[in-house]
Amino acid sequence: GACRVSGVLIVTGASAGIGAATARNAAFNGWPRIVVHYGQDKAGAEETAAVVESMGAQAYLLQADVSKPKAVLKMFDTIAGLKPGRVGLVNNAGIVAQTGTIADLTPERVEKVFAVNVLGAIEVARQAVGLMRAWGKGGGIVNISSAAARMGSANQYIDYAASKGAIDTFTLGLADELAPEGIRVNAIRPGLIETGIHAKGGVPDRLEKLGKTPPMGRPGTADEVAEAILWLLSERASYVTRTILDVAGGR
Ligand code: NAD
Repeated sequence: GACRVSGVLIVTGASAGIGAATARNAAFNGWPRIVVHYGQDKAGAEETAAVVESMGAQAYLLQADVSKPKAVLKMFDTIAGLKPGRVGLVNNAGIVAQTGTIADLTPERVEKVFAVNVLGAIEVARQAVGLMRAWGKGGGIVNISSAAARMGSANQYIDYAASKGAIDTFTLGLADELAPEGIRVNAIRPGLIETGIHAKGGVPDRLEKLGKTPPMGRPGTADEVAEAILWLLSERASYVTRTILDVAGGR
């Protein structure tokens, strides 16, 4: 696809999990330049960047807390200094909330989840669209939602699920707005995927407990999600926009 010529793929949260798999597989898929963004885990991001470079692509390691608009702006100022090309954005950085019920949804807690998962993702998308327009080489966006957006995640993390519901709706509106410019915007709703995120919600063995519950009888891998993301960003999906794709083993 066109990405192979001069594209820059920006993957947020590429130090681990789905983001790391997407950055690695993007290099394998022919993206020549990849922004390996991370929040705190520099070592993980360096590992991702090393794999990207071992496949002959250029990696740019950039740090930013996506919930801090100034940090996001600084990151995009750096990216804007690169040679212009088609821009791909994988809006992946996200946090899970602690397991709990409605009584646990304090304003402080909900604010934190929404600051990263919603406000952060919207600001990153806003900056990326600005870059696409400034460079004039086109682009595409894939937002990472969750199966939680449809299930609601009762007694687990309703606030997290609601933040991903917001991402679904944001995807629809942004896709409509950018379609005339040829910028395709889609989302992925991963189901239960083998990454480190599950241990962060206060139930360390969550993945083991739920591993057999998807209709396909197993969790998915980060690579399986990355495949769908990279297809949506490629020219092979040239007429696909405003789509929210479940990668969830039938869930
Ligand atoms: P993960 O915890 O391994 O990765 C999350 C990434 O986001 C990490 O690199 C982390 O450093 C980064 N991040 C978090 N907060 C940040 C911040 N404030 N600033 C910058 N970076 C930040 O988990 P994952 O499973 O790979 O999750 C990736 C995305 O997929 C998330 O948006 C998550 O909600 C979504 N998701 C995951 C699953 C699953 O089962 N693993 C299911 C549905 C959706």
